[in-house]
Amino acid sequence: MLFSGIPRVKLLEEETPIQHLNNVGSIMGNNNIFVKRDDLMPIGMGGNKIRCLEFWLGDAIQKKCDVLLVAGASVSNQCRLAAAAAAKIGMRCIILHSSNKPEKYNGNILLNKLMGTETIFLGEMDEYTRKEYTRKYADELREKGFKPYIIADDRVTGSLGYVNSALELVHQAESKNIDLKHVVICGSEGPTETGLLYGLCLFGNAFKVHVVSVEYEVSHLKKLVSGIFDGICEKLNLVPPRKIEDVAVFYDNYIGEGYAKPTEQSLEAVKLLAQKEAIFIENTYNSKVFAGMFDLVKKGVIDPNEAVCCYITGGIPALFKQADFFI
Ligand SMILES: *Cc1c(COP(=O)(O)O)cnc(C)c1O
Repeated sequence: MLFSGIPRVKLLEEETPIQHLNNVGSIMGNNNIFVKRDDLMPIGMGGNKIRCLEFWLGDAIQKKCDVLLVAGASVSNQCRLAAAAAAKIGMRCIILHSSNKPEKYNGNILLNKLMGTETIFLGEMDEYTRKEYTRKYADELREKGFKPYIIADDRVTGSLGYVNSALELVHQAESKNIDLKHVVICGSEGPTETGLLYGLCLFGNAFKVHVVSVEYEVSHLKKLVSGIFDGICEKLNLVPPRKIEDVAVFYDNYIGEGYAKPTEQSLEAVKLLAQKEAIFIENTYNSKVFAGMFDLVKKGVIDPNEAVCCYITGGIPALFKQADFFI
């Protein structure tokens, strides 16, 4: 067994749906466009981090930790989903936000408030300083006799959630007679895309994986991914028959001016999916991934006769903080 001996807390009982985008497909001249709905999960409004959290929580419990620490911006999906998973399994969770306390609560922080999650607003600071604060805060908790676990510190452990998702995808496509040739996934901090790549290097014979960066240049993203990939090989004690270069193509030409900044095409993608498929995506991650996928379909890089599946990674509460983009 691939994951034998690796602790995991099951948060998902069932597969997330694969859905055919027939309306968008007919506009694009490609009747083979599918999506993997990782935004549809039964807790916390779902999203990719739930899969990662199954393994982070397993690790935390095995290490006998008693409090989860999660840090992020106030719009962070990671914070909301860590809080959700903690609520579900009855574990204490503390959120550290790199922002000031807002006057009004909406989006993810509203949901955190409803879940009653302990939240500390550190004030505006960069990612590096936030990490320092988080470590210091963990030290303080240890001095008080607690055993904190910092979520997302160990990217290799989190990425196992997407190794698992790759197996789910391959199995699901087979059972639905979808002859999947392309998979499109978001590229950001690494765990999601690397886990998926590893899983498809193991099992997906004929797949091309298109990794659409929303944050870093390809050279930096490749470094992140190959570091995590090696870590998974070590952790599972298994080197896949295919290498990253055999299956993956990386793109950084859909980022626009930067992380979380919309592009004309990203806004179009949000509206197209809403208007033709009644699917809502947010504008930091998924909108750019879809803009990328649509461009690759239009250019014929993704052949109209070959099935493609694009991951929707969730994050929908963030959309409610992005209203200004659409006015
Ligand atoms: C965090 C996040 C991602 C990126 O995941 P990584 O593992 O950092 O690549 C993509 N989509 C959504 C909605 C997210 O919250």
